Amino acid sequence: RKLGVALVGLGSYATHQLAPALAEAQHCYLAGIVTGTPEKAEEWKKKYNIPDKNVYNYETYDQIADNPDIDIVYVVLPNSMHAEYVIRGAKAGKHMITEKPMAISVEECDQMIAACKEANRKLSVGYRLHFEPHNKEMMRLGQQQVFGPVKKISGADSFKIGDPDQWRLDKELAGGGPLMDVGIYCVQGACYTLGKEPTAITARFGEVTDPKKFDEVEETIIWQMEFPDGVTADFVSSYNQNGAKLRAEAENGWFELDPAYGYDGLKGETSEGKMDFPQVREQTLQMDDFALCVRENRESIVPGEMGRRDMKILTAIYEAARTGKKVQLT
Ligand code: NAD
Repeated sequence: RKLGVALVGLGSYATHQLAPALAEAQHCYLAGIVTGTPEKAEEWKKKYNIPDKNVYNYETYDQIADNPDIDIVYVVLPNSMHAEYVIRGAKAGKHMITEKPMAISVEECDQMIAACKEANRKLSVGYRLHFEPHNKEMMRLGQQQVFGPVKKISGADSFKIGDPDQWRLDKELAGGGPLMDVGIYCVQGACYTLGKEPTAITARFGEVTDPKKFDEVEETIIWQMEFPDGVTADFVSSYNQNGAKLRAEAENGWFELDPAYGYDGLKGETSEGKMDFPQVREQTLQMDDFALCVRENRESIVPGEMGRRDMKILTAIYEAARTGKKVQLT
């Protein structure tokens, strides 16, 4: 049978990406929902044929423990709520996926990992790009040194943010600005292109052009990650420009994605020509893989430990920007 997934938080990503992706999945399906909005519950029940008994709100959430239809719970709430809902889900005996960033501190990541270990449940982060062919090619070209050792990485992940009242601009809910939201894809990109972790970080905040909008989180951040053997990765992430790029320069050539991190329309090129890969439904592949991990009792390739690693790097980037000092990671 297909494993049942319950989505927690029926916002934009759950509505427009995860639910349609689940409808195409082979090994799992949308079995339940957790929402604070009764009108959304009605709409989703009809649209996805979800029985009343598989509909929860944030108060009744823990009762999901008694529901055998739900194997996996996927937390798609604002960043600062991931930890609580993952821990409660694990205690209810469910395998857990959390959206990125995993949480808003390394301590929370530790608690989430511990809760899932304690309950003997699996934990994964919604890092969909590990299942996307262009990004997988970046991993192959970099890690297998197809163009020789990579010397330098660069890129960006930015978008122009709209509504000034959204949670992404609220430090308490978001944990930070564009770095937490999309800059995390640059951090990921550097780590998976090299197959390594950074050893040190330098960073600075960019200019603030709208101090009212950006009174809690950064508007722009620029950082450099140092990797072993003198390899560097330079990135910018901003809420006031557009761009999503990942580029690697190696000893005997280069390879890049532009745009690099989206759900579709990704394009890649190397010093030997254009990449030619199909566009896939990333989230379907990601959730099907996790369902197989649960069924076959193997660890996800995007486990909680990876989310924790990234949270440690993001925290170091903020510290480096705040202090103006180089932050050592190892
Ligand atoms: P959203 O604002 O569209 O949805 C958030 C949901 O949380 C809403 O349904 C809202 O009602 C609910 N919610 C519950 N309590 C809330 C509170 N106190 N404040 C605000 N909302 C509250 O956001 P989204 O874009 O769907 O993002 C949700 C999560 O998914 C975030 O962690 C985000 O980083 C992640 N995300 C990941 C991707 C990806 O490509 N992997 C893409 C978009 C979002």
